[in-house]
Amino acid sequence: MTITKNVVIKVLDKIIEIIKENKEYLTELDSAIGDADHGINLERGFQAVKDKLATLTDSADISTILKTVGMTLVSTVGGASGPLYGTAFMRAGQAVQGKDELTEEDIIKIFEAALNGIKERGKAEAGDKTMIDAIEPAYKALIDGLNNKIELPEALNRAVNAAKEGMEYTKSISARKGRASYLGERSIGHQDPGATSSYLMIKAFADVANLL
Ligand code: ADP
Ligand code: MG
Repeated sequence: MTITKNVVIKVLDKIIEIIKENKEYLTELDSAIGDADHGINLERGFQAVKDKLATLTDSADISTILKTVGMTLVSTVGGASGPLYGTAFMRAGQAVQGKDELTEEDIIKIFEAALNGIKERGKAEAGDKTMIDAIEPAYKALIDGLNNKIELPEALNRAVNAAKEGMEYTKSISARKGRASYLGERSIGHQDPGATSSYLMIKAFADVANLL
């Protein structure tokens, strides 16, 4: 299965919608172990993305679209998550330079570039109670599925399940990066907001792919 530019736009629209729907929830999670702004930050950023995407010309390729999303998030989202998600989308765009359509291999490249970008920028690893705890298992499940000849929509569903498990796992560990790390062991018992927004974004992608 290939992912066309039209589908990429649909996925982005779905992400914008899902973040909007979960604005309060994400902010509530951040109020327990952070500063109660994660949903507000992301909703503002993705609203700006929506406005910016509407100004792009039809000739913009997938790479340009993803890089535009990244730059918009960096410039409009305050807090740690803006530069991190911004870097993820910018790197994803760089990984598929000049493409009007994405193969399954390109999708793997996008996930890999996004994950590595977040890790380099935030210097966090799996187990630090961050968005990486959702994204890394999802990336591994996706590769695993595709290597085993599972169709992309189903491989993405497996990635969503892995992201969900990773998100839930963040409840059991203490934070070593970001604001929540100031709480140390007191962060145990609370689900990481960034792992939750990452899960939601991966789910948005899977949901769109399953309707194709
Ligand atoms: P801030 O913490 O600056 O208020 P947000 O509330 O928007 O920013 O985002 C918080 C989320 O960012 C956390 O839940 C965590 O998942 C993620 N995060 C914070 N620091 C890092 C980091 N160094 N690496 C990866 N993710 C991080
Ligand atoms: Mg916050």
